[in-house]
Amino acid sequence: MNLLDGIEISSEKEDIICYSYDASYAKGVAPQFVAWPRNTEEISKLIKWASNKGLKIVPRGAGTGMSGGAIPIDSKSIVISLEKMNQILDINSKNFTVTVEAGVINGELQKELIIYELFYPPDPASLDYCTIGGNVATNAGGPTAIKYGVTRNYVMELEVVLSNGNILTFGGKTTKRVVGYEIKELFIGSEGTLGIISKVTLRVLPQPEDIITLLISFPNIENAGLLIPQILHKSIIPRAVEFLDNSCLQIIKENTNIELIKDTEAMILLELDGEVTSIKREAERVIDIAKKLKGDIKVATDFYSRQNLWKARRCISPTILKMTDKKKINLDITVPVENLSKALVSIKEISNLSKIPAVCFGHAGDGNIHVNILINPDEVNKGFEMAKKIFELTVSLQGAISGEHGVGVTKKQYIEIQLSKRQIEIMKALKRVFDPKDIMNPGKIF
Ligand SMILES: Cc1cc2nc3c(=O)[nH]c(=O)nc-3n(C[C@H](O)[C@H](O)[C@H](O)COP(=O)(O)OP(=O)(O)OC[C@H]3O[C@@H](n4cnc5c(N)ncnc54)[C@H](O)[C@@H]3O)c2cc1C
Repeated sequence: MNLLDGIEISSEKEDIICYSYDASYAKGVAPQFVAWPRNTEEISKLIKWASNKGLKIVPRGAGTGMSGGAIPIDSKSIVISLEKMNQILDINSKNFTVTVEAGVINGELQKELIIYELFYPPDPASLDYCTIGGNVATNAGGPTAIKYGVTRNYVMELEVVLSNGNILTFGGKTTKRVVGYEIKELFIGSEGTLGIISKVTLRVLPQPEDIITLLISFPNIENAGLLIPQILHKSIIPRAVEFLDNSCLQIIKENTNIELIKDTEAMILLELDGEVTSIKREAERVIDIAKKLKGDIKVATDFYSRQNLWKARRCISPTILKMTDKKKINLDITVPVENLSKALVSIKEISNLSKIPAVCFGHAGDGNIHVNILINPDEVNKGFEMAKKIFELTVSLQGAISGEHGVGVTKKQYIEIQLSKRQIEIMKALKRVFDPKDIMNPGKIF
């Protein structure tokens, strides 16, 4: 590692290779440099230096992205890693805000907030590793999105460094604000293509008093699909609703020692949070509805038994990863909740026709389905054809081809299934305003 004007930077092979990957299946190239700024001024200096040298700039948080957004695709690049900008700068219990450097890990922030009896809801499954800056750049969401929304709903103010090194702040510290265009919204979900997010002020909430978890096993997927609208109609808004289809359950049976109820075809994990007596009442109502739909119910109220019920849901991704004979193309589509069962049934049909398994799980409460297409090494083209059919199905059901992970490089060839040419032109024109020389993460999204 060397120093450039006091900033840590490296072009050593062992460093640059580590920064040519993220958590997706996308293949990147090793960048020329990787740098680890420790404050906003250092980011600004690095950007000016890189721009003068004609380098492309790839912003990076923790590299847990699932769409290749943080990987260099041009060897004349510098990866600017925010991992050393990891200070929580201010927790304000009176204003219900927190200000952090962009490299703070989501889970670390969550733990710190517990001391103040505060709660930051966006909880991607990667929360123990991913950064708040990465969460903002991908508008990350998690199981609690059904009740609490996604990252966008909590971002109040952003400090960003633009492609000319200028440092600007967008947004503010008030919930209500109508003063011209709200530019911070553009940066949320921009996947590092507009500038580098260096500091974030987030809205936080008081911690809910208690949580109850229910695991409900159903004899068929249709009954599982009926549960959610029925409980919402009873004015019950769960904090999370996760589902597993029969292909997930098959994987659990074959690869783990988790015991499942006999003849289960679909499972729903549901959580309620709030004041103790009111969530107990809500849980009773959910149990009544679930029983009428032939559901078999397990209830957990303390931390450890709740974690136990989450086991089946949490083991799916790692178990699929361990199935070494198969490659995985993972999609994160989202459809309006009313179309969830329709989407699941149609994905199964596409999978049967293509003769390629598709394992589905995800966040039933907000229609977000993780589809894992499992292919043999010689079926890559067939796998991507199947992905295209699933994206077309998603858009026909008024859904989005990415609900969580963003477009990056893995979905850019499908973006026209979702957006018109004119919409893409407008997006590109907006990018030119912030990045006229096209040096900020070029080749991503478009
Ligand atoms: C096991 C696992 C589970 C996951 N579960 C979820 C989930 O439940 N929900 C979900 O939404 N996602 C999930 N993800 C995806 C991923 O964790 C999120 O997209 C996360 O927000 C990425 O954060 P990161 O810090 O790792 O960003 P990176 O992967 O480093 O970068 C992601 C994108 O953001 C850009 N970026 C990063 N930091 C900055 C910055 N400071 N300024 C500007 N641009 C920046 C990068 O250029 C890139 O385009 C999961 C991933 C894994 C591996």
